[in-house]
Amino acid sequence: MSDLTTISARTLSLRGELRLDEPMSKHVSWRAGGKARRFFKPADLADLQAFLPGVPESEPVLFVGLGSNLLIRDAGFDGTVVLTTPLLSGIAMGDAPHTVDAGAGVPSPHVAKFAAKNHCAGAEWLAGVPGTVGGALAMNAGCYGTETWQQIVHCTTIDREGVLHTRGTADFEIGYRHVAPHFAGEEWFVAARFQFSAGEATSAQARIKELLAKRMAAQPLDKPNAGSTFRNPPGDHAARLIESCGLKGYTIGGAQVSLKHANFIINLGEAKAADIEGLIDHMQATVKKQTGVELVREVRIVGKAA
Ligand SMILES: Cc1cc2nc3c(=O)[nH]c(=O)nc-3n(C[C@H](O)[C@H](O)[C@H](O)COP(=O)(O)OP(=O)(O)OC[C@H]3O[C@@H](n4cnc5c(N)ncnc54)[C@H](O)[C@@H]3O)c2cc1C
Repeated sequence: MSDLTTISARTLSLRGELRLDEPMSKHVSWRAGGKARRFFKPADLADLQAFLPGVPESEPVLFVGLGSNLLIRDAGFDGTVVLTTPLLSGIAMGDAPHTVDAGAGVPSPHVAKFAAKNHCAGAEWLAGVPGTVGGALAMNAGCYGTETWQQIVHCTTIDREGVLHTRGTADFEIGYRHVAPHFAGEEWFVAARFQFSAGEATSAQARIKELLAKRMAAQPLDKPNAGSTFRNPPGDHAARLIESCGLKGYTIGGAQVSLKHANFIINLGEAKAADIEGLIDHMQATVKKQTGVELVREVRIVGKAA
């Protein structure tokens, strides 16, 4: 097993922040969970390119954006977390009509606002997805009938050697909240080009307001949460099934099935990752028992249980 000295010796020239035992509750929207054994906040892309080859091959690497779909178990993640938000945050219009080039650390709502301001239509849905472009690519995030990869022209990835690659949709198996590479080896997203259509700024901005108001009315945004816990099963809604089993308000420790939206789990304040995961398991088992439907988790859970 490697230790930090292995990596710090090789990385003395790094400009980013390298920390040990970083509490990941600060970096995930549930505001719960354990620590990352090693945590790197690169200064820029070149810094990340210099850092990755120094990470021992046996060490798991986890890229984290805004942590809005992620839970680290209470005993923590025994590997290296790379936080993308401070880096990879550039956004600009592309050199083809109605294209937007965004770094993986750009919040998706910024893409929506930037595209609207620049007279593009079709990006409005991204305003309500509180993650980054990298997270949207990894999850194939979507709502209101549009999914991320339907709007991607190409993306840039980085591998463990710090080498950049240009990838297109054909390089991945893409499905509902599912993205898997056709190529071997690990790569992470550092940028993407989106294709939108011709639009008008004021109507796109009005549409964003309308969609955000819809979310405010339907989702428990006043409490830490990670959006939809489960994917919707074909032809049905996870929230409807969970509610039909009488689970709204069901509580384990500090985690509760939201009274406002049954597919959301909220942190009442002091939830442990184990409370949240225990509640997820209970919801899954109850829905299976009462309706026969096997709910598939949408949120990602990593690390060791305490
Ligand atoms: C209130 C609320 C509403 C939401 N609504 C929606 C919705 O309508 N539709 C929807 O699809 N989702 C929704 N989500 C879930 C979440 O916002 C999305 O999945 C989002 O795209 C995750 O982005 P992130 O940056 O937070 O990813 P994180 O939570 O940081 O990471 C999620 C996964 O992506 C991986 N990842 C992150 N960045 C990279 C990268 N650069 N390269 C490779 N892998 C990476 C992580 O390792 C992890 O496996 C909602 C969440 C909340 C809290």
